[in-house]
Amino acid sequence: MSEHYFTLARLYSLSRQFHARSWVWFLDIDGTLLDIAPSPLAVTVPDDLIVSLNRLAESPRHRIALISGRSLADIDQLFPNPLFSKSGNHGAEYYCNNKTWLHYSSRRFLAVRPRVLDTLASLPEQFPGLFIEDKQYSLSVHYRHVNSSQHALLSTILRTRLSSVESITIHPAKLCWEIRPDPGPTKADAVQRLYNQISPQLPKPTLPVIMGDDRTDEDAFGAVNPAVTIHVGNHNRPTQALYRINSPQQVRDLITDVSRAACFFAEASLSPEDNG
Ligand SMILES: [Mg+2]
Repeated sequence: MSEHYFTLARLYSLSRQFHARSWVWFLDIDGTLLDIAPSPLAVTVPDDLIVSLNRLAESPRHRIALISGRSLADIDQLFPNPLFSKSGNHGAEYYCNNKTWLHYSSRRFLAVRPRVLDTLASLPEQFPGLFIEDKQYSLSVHYRHVNSSQHALLSTILRTRLSSVESITIHPAKLCWEIRPDPGPTKADAVQRLYNQISPQLPKPTLPVIMGDDRTDEDAFGAVNPAVTIHVGNHNRPTQALYRINSPQQVRDLITDVSRAACFFAEASLSPEDNG
């Protein structure tokens, strides 16, 4: 478990160590860039975050890649900049370089999705506060507003009902169950596929920076090597990430600092060494 905290100074130091001349920022959204809200629809995207991300994306040496469990349409609504690369539904759908594409498992999930929805249809009535989010290539069963005394029963019922549906798996997330194709993609696929698209356009060496806050991001942390991997939030949670950041606010502050530095060193590099 890492106890090293990530700062702009550490980014400078690592960039010198790797002789980095470009950076790809793989960023989870909820709990990483944005504070967790009572529901996925209730998040707010601070204006200064948009300014900083846009500024970074316009730098010739930086790329933004958003990797989320949200649908691609949802990500587009929150972050409409077409310069950002994006992967939605934990690697099921992609946008990069003006192209969109699907992971091979996504059409398979579409075939079983009506059965899954039918199977779960009565749950919101049975468990007041439960909310099913249909993300087309996966489903999220949110139970943060369900009485905690009912969580274990809900888990049992969910698993029992879905046991008859083939080619799906249930992943635990933050007060939510993710129902996804099995076998299916992970955030490791998302990072690798987008990195393969993005990196040929950048000056070498490129240093990927991967940030995330929950279990699904652990897959992303192992996706490419070398990479700077940063776990956001909960200090007690074990992580494969090399570094930690305390909160989404600190992530946003870092992105702002980096985007200002990137702007200042527009035609050179972020690394002070490269800039004399
Ligand atoms: Mg997250």
